[in-house]
Amino acid sequence: MKNGAGPVVMFRADMDALPLKEDSGLPYASTKTGTTLDGIQSSVAHVCGHDAHVTWLIGVAKVMAAQKANWSGTLILVGQPAEEAYMGADKMVKDGLYSKIPMPSVVFASHTNPIWPAGAVGLGQGRRMAGADQMKVTLYGIGGHGSTPHASKDPIVMSAQAIMAYQTIVSRRIDQTEPVVLTVGSIQAGTVGNIIPDKATMNLSLRWYSKPAREQLIAMVKQMTDGVALGNGMPADRMPEYENNQSITPVINDDGLVATARPALEKALGKENIYPGIPMQMGSEDFQMLGDPIKDVKILHLEIGVAKPAVVKAFMEKGTMPAYVNHHPKFQVELPAIAAGVKANATVLLELLKKP
Ligand SMILES: [Zn+2]
Ligand SMILES: [Zn+2]
Repeated sequence: MKNGAGPVVMFRADMDALPLKEDSGLPYASTKTGTTLDGIQSSVAHVCGHDAHVTWLIGVAKVMAAQKANWSGTLILVGQPAEEAYMGADKMVKDGLYSKIPMPSVVFASHTNPIWPAGAVGLGQGRRMAGADQMKVTLYGIGGHGSTPHASKDPIVMSAQAIMAYQTIVSRRIDQTEPVVLTVGSIQAGTVGNIIPDKATMNLSLRWYSKPAREQLIAMVKQMTDGVALGNGMPADRMPEYENNQSITPVINDDGLVATARPALEKALGKENIYPGIPMQMGSEDFQMLGDPIKDVKILHLEIGVAKPAVVKAFMEKGTMPAYVNHHPKFQVELPAIAAGVKANATVLLELLKKP
């Protein structure tokens, strides 16, 4: 939407579903099926609320079109696929997104949040969601008979040593004020008990906020794994191999944008409905990848409440998490959150594109 001179602001709605059977009991629950990237036939459902995100985007388009006299600049509305797989934003950029549309100075998105009540939003400063890397480590051994380990080199034992060594990366080597996670989520090796296999593969999930911490994590995994292989007498041509299958950057809110959005949201939704934003988390989302190619881009991520008020009361008083969070088959968006989400998002956009 081009509307005269002014900033270029992008509003993004992710629109993908999850391979899961919805069990909300709602009359409009999903009955669709689809095929996953791995070719598995599955039920699909919007149990992360991305259907609400698309509905907000349509509502925002209507509001901004009707309010054209009250703002100035360029508004870009983007529907993004494949957020859950952390691939869509990066692929859109690599596919030439910014040769098709002007580069925004602000990239803004919001997400359903099962902690805040429908009608409210959470607005948090700074670090919101962690960057993430998926790393594949292959440890080579020398295969042999299970009865003659001395005549082989056992990659299963080596992977066990490596996994235990990794535990000291976060606890002993990275600055303790820097939030990082290293999880070995899968390990595969061997077939039967009496064969020593010739390789073991592990898939790691790394989470981080600062780029130096990310580089340290990756370098230390390689250092420790190489060290294990060397300590087990592996020859130079059978050293471990590393693949980085995916990397996404963290979501970090611009404090200036938060300060701009807050009073406008307080006025539109009521001061009592603006929550502080959930604490910094090590979960991830790929939204900021849309902004990464742009120098000095500012990022804003809002949490739109979709819960029943009783859920929120229990969380605020006792810290009890709602039973049905995003990705749960019974996750649902309370309907007042649709109108409130449109209002919150449009309020922020009208403020960012306010006439000088
Ligand atoms: Zn989501
Ligand atoms: Zn999700």
